[in-house]
Amino acid sequence: MSANDTQWFPCPVCLKPLDVRMSKRKKPYVICSPCGVQMFIRERAGIEAFGKLVEQGTKADVLTRIGQLEQRYRLKCPECGKSFWASPELLGKNWFNSKVSGYRCPESNCRGVVPLGERSDAPTDLSPTEK
Ligand SMILES: [Zn+2]
Ligand SMILES: [Zn+2]
Repeated sequence: MSANDTQWFPCPVCLKPLDVRMSKRKKPYVICSPCGVQMFIRERAGIEAFGKLVEQGTKADVLTRIGQLEQRYRLKCPECGKSFWASPELLGKNWFNSKVSGYRCPESNCRGVVPLGERSDAPTDLSPTEK
């Protein structure tokens, strides 16, 4: 049994590569336990499209392709200007109030943090503004 045969697909939430499994009825699905994500592909058209994505993903970098669709996961360090992926491991915590403060720049010699609020799609305070 070769590990190269393993097919995988990234979790839509945390982007971690997940093993593609087959149901008894030959429908592919992926499960991400930490996120509680279960994604089943039940329709024939979906299964075909999914199969192509998996095939490309095992050859190419599927995360890069997803990144083109999901620009919001791409962050830019305010300190050094380096762009990087928003990944859960980079979430810095403010230990004083145990709230997540932002994504830390992965550069080892940079202390830049992208505040969560700077994600363009982040839900902002929706209280009505007076004009
Ligand atoms: Zn996940
Ligand atoms: Zn940086």
